[in-house]
Amino acid sequence: MRCVQERHPRGAAAAAALAAMVVLHAGGCQGPADPMQKKRNDMVERQIAARGIRDPRVLEAMRTVPRHLFVPLAEEASAYDDRPLPIGSGQTISQPYVVAFMAEQLRLTGKEKVLEIGTGSGYSTAILAALATKVFSIEIRPELSRQAKEHLEKLGVKNVELKAADGYRGWPEEAPFDAILVTAAPERIPPPLLEQLAPEGRMVIPVGAFYQELKVIKRQGGGYSEKSVLPVRFVPFVGEAEGAPPPARDPGASR
Ligand code: SAH
Repeated sequence: MRCVQERHPRGAAAAAALAAMVVLHAGGCQGPADPMQKKRNDMVERQIAARGIRDPRVLEAMRTVPRHLFVPLAEEASAYDDRPLPIGSGQTISQPYVVAFMAEQLRLTGKEKVLEIGTGSGYSTAILAALATKVFSIEIRPELSRQAKEHLEKLGVKNVELKAADGYRGWPEEAPFDAILVTAAPERIPPPLLEQLAPEGRMVIPVGAFYQELKVIKRQGGGYSEKSVLPVRFVPFVGEAEGAPPPARDPGASR
């Protein structure tokens, strides 16, 4: 395959980035097919690998997925900065390190069926799509779901299904899921999401109001184990979760 060296206007950037992904996966030419490649390499080295993320598949996905195509044009120059960015409708795309950290915690090997709640820009969806077999992603704000669909289609990401809905009840028709990623914070874990986790499956979810903890839930031995792995700040999980009654049981308890 030929290395494309010229600069691309944004309209053509998705095609160039896709070409870069194909080239990287083929292990062939490593030239700067995408002018943002160096920024992504630096992001991975300085913000992600330097902070202890080791999973080579996660590092590769973070080097490959063109984050700048998931943010509004006005934010494009900041797309690889070490912070979250606004994506419209009062929502944010998470800091690159946090996306990589969550992805690593899911321990994906490439064979999994994954549920994501909080599609947002579609960026973390694209990262999951690079790491698993199939991703189902739900976004409560239809305008964001539409935008994410456009971004993912432009990049030719095929193993993703999106739905504009409240993710509180998960996606029962497609359950169980080997992994569940939630990118908005409820005060309590929605019980339907716990139920839709496959045996040995993992869920990564921020929980809390102002002070939030990123939790890793594992379904094992007829119950669930739970650990807090990182203090975080996500946008709130809105909709049914806000009015839901407290769960009858502690999610950590055996069922
Ligand atoms: N993963 C996203 C981060 C988006 S921020 C990205 O990479 O860009 C979290 C998203 O969760 C927001 O878009 C918000 O609208 C959405 N959200 C909040 N509550 C939700 C709910 N109940 N169901 C589905 N999505 C929800």
